[in-house]
Amino acid sequence: MIKKESVLLKQSLKCGCPKCGVPSIFPHKFTLETIEKCPSCDLKIKDHDSGDGPAFFLLSALCFIITPLALWLAYVIEIPLWAHACLWTFVCVGLCLVVLQPLKTYFIALNYKHRGGAHGV
Ligand SMILES: [Zn+2]
Repeated sequence: MIKKESVLLKQSLKCGCPKCGVPSIFPHKFTLETIEKCPSCDLKIKDHDSGDGPAFFLLSALCFIITPLALWLAYVIEIPLWAHACLWTFVCVGLCLVVLQPLKTYFIALNYKHRGGAHGV
């Protein structure tokens, strides 16, 4: 069964398997290493590699979001440069920790859908 991108996106927010949706394809919260295969449907998740795509898109998005926010904050209130460095480092690392696993799951799900697996290839 081929799933729509919206279904894949909802499954990815829970870091679920692209085939059956059972969470999680990661052994624990702070890793990007996926499990070998899904314990529910036996899909070989390691065969669907996302490469560097999630990290590239997240860092690109963060650059477009964080830079204007930092400039706006510097314009609105005057805080020292070291405070900017601490604040934006904390924000960037926090967003990476929260967003990178679901984004990698989404890339794996798109790989599963468009490059085989969903079509029985
Ligand atoms: Zn599964």
